[in-house]
Amino acid sequence: MTSPLRRPLIAGNWKMHLTLAQSVDLARAVKDGCAGAPGEVAVCVPFTAVSVVAQVLKGSPVKLGAQDLFWEAQGAFTGEVSAGMLVDAGAQAVVIGHSERRRLFGDTDEAVNRKLRAALAAELMPIVCVGETLQEREEQRTFKVLQTQLEGGLKGFAPADLSRVVIAYEPVWAIGTGKTATPDQAQEAHLFIRKTCARLYGEGFAAGLRILYGGSVKAENVDALMAQPDLDGALVGGDSLKAQSFLRIMHFNAPAGAK
Ligand code: PEP
Repeated sequence: MTSPLRRPLIAGNWKMHLTLAQSVDLARAVKDGCAGAPGEVAVCVPFTAVSVVAQVLKGSPVKLGAQDLFWEAQGAFTGEVSAGMLVDAGAQAVVIGHSERRRLFGDTDEAVNRKLRAALAAELMPIVCVGETLQEREEQRTFKVLQTQLEGGLKGFAPADLSRVVIAYEPVWAIGTGKTATPDQAQEAHLFIRKTCARLYGEGFAAGLRILYGGSVKAENVDALMAQPDLDGALVGGDSLKAQSFLRIMHFNAPAGAK
């Protein structure tokens, strides 16, 4: 039986999209459409939209997240935003170590670790992303890459510190490409992540850890993915910008008794 701690989570990652007016409209659609969803729902929005979307989502169960943070509390760090600032603006969650941050902005496992510490100290729910590139998969290095990212990113915590952490497995080759990992490929990676976390932080921690899949999740593939025993939700990029698709994804329909 799946741990009750592993309540499914469908999180949208809006990336660098939408004006404030469009953000308000989409947040309203998510808020209005979330009743009856089988799990939790979150939207991770650009920094500029956090406070306006917080107003829209006030009183709704939809969680509000940002897409990154900087680990220092304040100071001369031009262009950066701290965990405390995110909380002040109304965020409850934050994405850390997205592959676009790693690839385009040089976020290392050490940076992920520092950002994670700052997020936890501010009581944000961190969504820590890990995943291999196509080349790494073709060279049979997927598990090694995941292990290195998990060991580096989650280093130096006690299991209790990490109770709010969510991991997102996002194979880089599946992000924004229209190529989705098959349910079996995703399940294999999720199981490896859970086992690695069991080794690092104990069976109890791993049994309650939520692991999301991300990479071209769509209305058409979410049900088959969510039927896999170690998938606890999805991090959705492109299709989280289309209200109708995202609503269908958050109302996923995993076959009864699949888990
Ligand atoms: C993402 O941004 O984390 C993502 C998975 O994007 P997409 O769903 O567009 O592949």
